[in-house]
Amino acid sequence: MFRINENYLKLKAGYLFPEIGRRVKAFADANPEAKIIRLGIGDVTEPLPAAIVTAMHEAVDDMAKRDSFHGYGPEQGYGFLREPIAEQDYQARGVNVAADEIFISDGSKCDTGNILDILGADNVIAITDPVYPVYVDTNVMAGHTGDADKNGRYGKLVYLPVTAENNFTADLPSEPVDIIYLCYPNNPTGTVATRETLQKWVDYALENKCLIMFDAAYEAFVSDDSIPRSIFEIEGARKVAIEFRSFSKNIGFTGVRCAFTVVPKELTVTASCGTEVSLHQLWNRRQSTKFNGASYIVQKGAAAAYTPEGRQQTKALIDFYMTNAQLLVDGLTSVGITVFGGKHAPYVWLKTPNDMSSWDFFDKLLEKGHLVGTPGSGFGAAGEGYFRLSAFNSRANVETAIERFKSVVS
Ligand SMILES: *Cc1c(COP(=O)(O)O)cnc(C)c1O
Repeated sequence: MFRINENYLKLKAGYLFPEIGRRVKAFADANPEAKIIRLGIGDVTEPLPAAIVTAMHEAVDDMAKRDSFHGYGPEQGYGFLREPIAEQDYQARGVNVAADEIFISDGSKCDTGNILDILGADNVIAITDPVYPVYVDTNVMAGHTGDADKNGRYGKLVYLPVTAENNFTADLPSEPVDIIYLCYPNNPTGTVATRETLQKWVDYALENKCLIMFDAAYEAFVSDDSIPRSIFEIEGARKVAIEFRSFSKNIGFTGVRCAFTVVPKELTVTASCGTEVSLHQLWNRRQSTKFNGASYIVQKGAAAAYTPEGRQQTKALIDFYMTNAQLLVDGLTSVGITVFGGKHAPYVWLKTPNDMSSWDFFDKLLEKGHLVGTPGSGFGAAGEGYFRLSAFNSRANVETAIERFKSVVS
């Protein structure tokens, strides 16, 4: 008889977004006239920058001719994309990352999950709470946790609460951990980490031989040069960190699919036999075996984001979403709501009025304002009493949503 991976049975049944979908559908069925505005799931809404569309059209034409046709590409990605990433995202900012340390993929969600392939099964994993659920669930699937308790917290995971009380920066763990997930600018809270905060984590990792998994999916939304965009801006990070980046949010590729992971060559660990092992080599081996590269057409599109027109159009797209975020921050603040984030990330994290629970506030906003957001408690127990609104929407929807929000809470 075959067996399944029973770790999957530990996963909590009511995953956040299906539960939101269920409640929204029930409301919509009962109120077919209601024009619901969704500021829930973090998905982009605006069309692709023109330079990227042109590049992808040209890439399709390449595929239509024998002499410019492309079959399997390099598993690590094409040089025409890895090189501008290394030069413009890193070296131009004084950050030491080489093109051959960059692994192009079809998404950061898969990379953050797949990376567990090269890591041992008995690492103690630390995550912030609230957190991007992918880090937790992939570790549950890989058998790195115990069962969930009634609050949805898994045994063996170390939860590091991030709330207004600690200014959304986690304290160092009080028990030994091996792997730490950090995401800045942060999803869901929209907050950022200072250089000092990240240095504290890198120093901790160096001292305790930990690995930092740094998710920088929102780095392009940072508008202040004093805030780090990469963990590799931090001294010592090349020995302890892997960085995940994605084209999903900055150039609108959630539906196109392209991302990359940086594994520095200095990142090594001593195996149980005593040999020093390079994680770069392990990841290269893993990708070469289980992945056949991102599509040529898609990589051509991503590379166009690094041309002068592409850069300008990408910046305009980011500015558009960040103006939405600013409108949300201003609108909510004007009716007395306490808000966090929204300055260097397309998410606004608000304190629910009158200490309402996150789900009660969700229901109220849906019923009275026909607005959908995301309950903070869905991202972790410490998110209770908070609520996330996404700035990914049309200007008209954001403006209408703000007026409705105001009338619901005042
Ligand atoms: C959107 C997002 C990503 C991007 O994932 P893709 O699979 O590349 O679309 C990664 N991390 C976080 C925290 C995100 O919110």
